[in-house]
Amino acid sequence: MAFVAFVFVRDPMSQPRLLLVEDEPGLQLSLTDRLSSEGYQVDIAGDGDLAVARATAETFDVIVLDVMLPGRDGFEVLRAIRQQGVKTPVLMLTARGQVVDKVVGLKMGADDYLTKPFEAMELVARLEALRRRAPATTGPGVTRFAFGDVTVDTRKAEVTRGGVPVDLSAKEFQLLRYFIEHRGATVSREELLHEVWGYQNTPSTRTVDVHVAWLRQKLEPNAKVPQVILTVHGLGYKFAG
Ligand code: CA
Repeated sequence: MAFVAFVFVRDPMSQPRLLLVEDEPGLQLSLTDRLSSEGYQVDIAGDGDLAVARATAETFDVIVLDVMLPGRDGFEVLRAIRQQGVKTPVLMLTARGQVVDKVVGLKMGADDYLTKPFEAMELVARLEALRRRAPATTGPGVTRFAFGDVTVDTRKAEVTRGGVPVDLSAKEFQLLRYFIEHRGATVSREELLHEVWGYQNTPSTRTVDVHVAWLRQKLEPNAKVPQVILTVHGLGYKFAG
């Protein structure tokens, strides 16, 4: 996907907080150095129990979670924090060849993976991508999402583009929110009619197309060449913001 105009919404007054769950002192040190130089405020949890305690008690923007930990392993940590409603994006560090674990982790709600050994630059890039994709977790109930020069506050139902409020109809906003909540997934017109419009039968999938066209006009850099709300031919749409 060639859309490179992402911006990340950051509170200039505060650094993004990152919880590094890793028991190896060498990696703790080297990753903390590197991530700090990238502007992160890094906190460390050296075992699974401490990780769960901190992730559920404090607010982080992103969590880097090693699978191999003393006591509770990374998968157990992930399951525990997701069960407690922590939606913070999680990037898991897996050992080489842990393919099965990767599948298990995806089902449990990890957002991305990196296999050891990895380059610090790769980790930094993945973290930035994760934080662009994820709702901001700056506090309870705040759900802010950004793509391109567009920011969406789903709690306040406010959308801005380049800092200027965008006027969306209620249905357009509901459609946008549905896309954001299902970002990366292909959603059919029938699904959108059912979930956004509430139609049990599908009188006209054209309704969806019209609203998608309006959203594109309001939010896409070039509505004729969509980069955010993509058409998946024969299947529906995919939100790639
Ligand atoms: Ca480890």
